[in-house]
Amino acid sequence: MRLFSDGYPVLGQDSVLDISIIGAGVSGLSTGIRLLEAGHDVTIFTESISPDTVSDTAAAWWYPFLAEPLEKTNQWSAETFYELVRLMEEEGVSCITMRKGKEFLEVESPAPGWSKQIPHFRILDSDEIAPGYTFGWEIEAPVIEMHIYMPWLMERFESLGGDLRITKVGSLEELPGDLVVNCCGLGGKELCQDDDLEPVRGQIVYVEQDPGFGRFDQRPESLIYTIPRRDVTVLGGTAQRGDWDETIREEDTEHILDKCESLWPELDRSKIVGVAVGLRPSRKLVRLEIEKLASGKFVIHNYGHGGAGVTLSWGCADEVASIVSSKMT
Ligand SMILES: Cc1cc2nc3c(=O)[nH]c(=O)nc-3n(C[C@H](O)[C@H](O)[C@H](O)COP(=O)(O)OP(=O)(O)OC[C@H]3O[C@@H](n4cnc5c(N)ncnc54)[C@H](O)[C@@H]3O)c2cc1C
Repeated sequence: MRLFSDGYPVLGQDSVLDISIIGAGVSGLSTGIRLLEAGHDVTIFTESISPDTVSDTAAAWWYPFLAEPLEKTNQWSAETFYELVRLMEEEGVSCITMRKGKEFLEVESPAPGWSKQIPHFRILDSDEIAPGYTFGWEIEAPVIEMHIYMPWLMERFESLGGDLRITKVGSLEELPGDLVVNCCGLGGKELCQDDDLEPVRGQIVYVEQDPGFGRFDQRPESLIYTIPRRDVTVLGGTAQRGDWDETIREEDTEHILDKCESLWPELDRSKIVGVAVGLRPSRKLVRLEIEKLASGKFVIHNYGHGGAGVTLSWGCADEVASIVSSKMT
């Protein structure tokens, strides 16, 4: 029998919860895996699965970008960094590789908060800085091939006993189980009537050429990146706030290529093999909190990760699992 203390159900030490998750992007799958590992029964209800989620379009370079609050996102990013390294080194997940990248800045800036938490971060020497910039740093970080990683996450989720159902959820109240975990990405606009959530449109170009190391200018207004993966290098980008257009725009492709050539003059346009568009689920602050609905049901929200959903994925999944264990069991 369930008792309630401070508004939260107290289920006893060995309680197994029946948990419904909304969404099968990187957030929903990573969270589902963590909750299954904690021994709960988990079902994902989702409108779309890989390869049709925003997560499949992610470039994906580990880099805390367009996501706040910084005191939280720095911690979630660091946790994800080490989990990605562990998956690569201990579990042989070969779609994760470590690559070096140089970030160029127009003005000298303090090192970002997360820089102390990763093994390789150094300020660039002046002769390493690209023309037009005055400052920069180098990091070594995981690069994830999402077209392989997303099916891997789904397989891991199902092999741990997770159930996945394809359906659109109309309201948080309608789902079965003891608890709902909401990883709906941009779907929160409709599902939670969340006016803080908005798309930040991103277009990218794939080229079969390796730049040796990644080159970045991560200011949203200029946004240039070349992310070397094993299969292709991902060139970006755009960060068009409030833009819901998911069609490829020729003028954006041209603009991306021009920008990338400024950092990588050897870029060979004849090696382009594809273009893609995705809508980042952007929010002033990532929403990761527990809410009690009018019906008495509990929801843990985990959405609004902006341009860093992959970078934050395991840290956020761990935080959801820790809320479940501290508040619900
Ligand atoms: C071009 C581009 C490049 C990017 N590069 C990077 C990068 O290098 N590094 C990085 O960390 N991040 C990157 N991102 C950001 C990253 O892709 C997102 O932050 C991340 O994918 C968000 O994951 P999510 O699981 O929260 O959302 P999504 O992947 O959008 O998944 C949401 C899920 O919820 C489901 N859903 C929504 N509403 C409902 C509903 N009502 N009923 C049922 N299901 C519902 C959807 O069907 C989907 O399965 C990039 C994004 C873009 C567009």
